[in-house]
Amino acid sequence: MRHLNCPTCGRRFEETESPSLPFCSERCRLVDLGRWLDERYGMPFESEHDPSEERREGDYAKKLGEGGQRT
Ligand SMILES: [Zn+2]
Repeated sequence: MRHLNCPTCGRRFEETESPSLPFCSERCRLVDLGRWLDERYGMPFESEHDPSEERREGDYAKKLGEGGQRT
């Protein structure tokens, strides 16, 4: 009989005990799945877009526009 460590809770259990290998229980399987989805979709990534930069560009474009109207 094989013993496994649940990747979610770390509990040691027998392979035959669990319906949700390699996790000790269905609950732990779902917890791990949720964690995986969080990493994939909820991970805050560093955005290269700087809002202050956009504001500066906006002003610059406005000045260009005004200048264009004058000439
Ligand atoms: Zn577990």
